[in-house]
Amino acid sequence: MEISENISLQALHSFGCNEKASYFTKIDSVEAIEKSIQWAKEKNTPYLILGSGSNILFTKPFEGLVLKMEIMGIKKLKETASEVFLEVGAGENWHYFVIYCVQKGWGGIENLSLIPGTVGAAPIQNIGAYGVEAKDCIELVTAYDTQTSQFITLNNADCKFGYRTSLFKMEKTRYIISSVQFILQKQPIFRTEYGAIKEVLHQKNNKQPSVEAIANAVIQIRTEKLPDPKKIGNAGSFFKNPTITKDFYEVLIAKYPKLIAYPITDDIYKIAAGWLIEACGWKGIQKGNVGCYEKQSLVIVHYNNGPGIEIYNFSEEIIQSVLKQFDILLEREVIIY
Ligand SMILES: Cc1cc2nc3c(=O)[nH]c(=O)nc-3n(C[C@H](O)[C@H](O)[C@H](O)COP(=O)(O)OP(=O)(O)OC[C@H]3O[C@@H](n4cnc5c(N)ncnc54)[C@H](O)[C@@H]3O)c2cc1C
Repeated sequence: MEISENISLQALHSFGCNEKASYFTKIDSVEAIEKSIQWAKEKNTPYLILGSGSNILFTKPFEGLVLKMEIMGIKKLKETASEVFLEVGAGENWHYFVIYCVQKGWGGIENLSLIPGTVGAAPIQNIGAYGVEAKDCIELVTAYDTQTSQFITLNNADCKFGYRTSLFKMEKTRYIISSVQFILQKQPIFRTEYGAIKEVLHQKNNKQPSVEAIANAVIQIRTEKLPDPKKIGNAGSFFKNPTITKDFYEVLIAKYPKLIAYPITDDIYKIAAGWLIEACGWKGIQKGNVGCYEKQSLVIVHYNNGPGIEIYNFSEEIIQSVLKQFDILLEREVIIY
């Protein structure tokens, strides 16, 4: 186990803020997880797991040990006439894994193409896009429980998956995911009803959707809509879409007929946070080094090398203005350190 000191986190997270970590180590085996946590416990120093850093904002130096997850490997465990069971190391790149499955014609995660990050982080906030969530294909998650110092295997129900949340997000830093088991489909049911997927398939004259055609459509849509973190700092959607009661929804829709919302149960509606932010006039606004992306109000962008706290303060201004205008409290999706 090699521990480096005073390491810059700038190139290790997609907002690119120039904060430092007191200690840093790479994790390329399950043994390395145990050793590193033991080291942190003996030193009585906090720790955090870093995948690709595409959902983290550092607002100050991290006075502790950063464990960069690099456990690799995609292993086929079992194959039946209709399904394929795969075990994937937490450090594998998510999009690489999606394309690996797409090329084999295995369906289930093609709608999640081009989401930045690692496979190990996918269960943390149950990544989702275009009507599909990681939980739809996850069978088991293997993780190190830092409270009991044991490796455990959790099934799908144990993981308590929800909209951009899970047990792992609720109990931040308790579990370190080392691998994830997925079930992929050989005769998948395609999900084309979300976003512009159908439209893009139609433009490309793809009459019979395939895993590959959907992945390509999603890649095209995302490339056109979202800023590339390699060119401009961002962490995708900064806020979650809030939920409100039906009664409150009816009050709002009477006042704002263009409000974007949809029912998730008989009594609960999900509101498009991007619509609320745009309605407050934030779309395309820049203050100092930070801005609200001109093509998608849910995305906060970092134009220069400003400090992370500037991004946090900008997000707080957005939260306060949405609260004032709509009486809805937005919750950050991005993890703040
Ligand atoms: C341009 C862009 C578009 C995006 N689009 C989407 C989208 O469509 N849908 C979506 O859901 N998300 C989206 N995201 C957010 C991000 O891609 C996901 O949250 C992704 O899963 C983060 O992976 P990561 O490896 O970068 O995690 P990190 O940012 O490194 O970490 C995120 C959190 O997970 C924890 N963590 C990471 N790995 C582990 C592990 N092995 N064990 C335990 N804890 C761990 C970290 O401590 C942290 O709390 C987008 C981000 C960007 C920049």
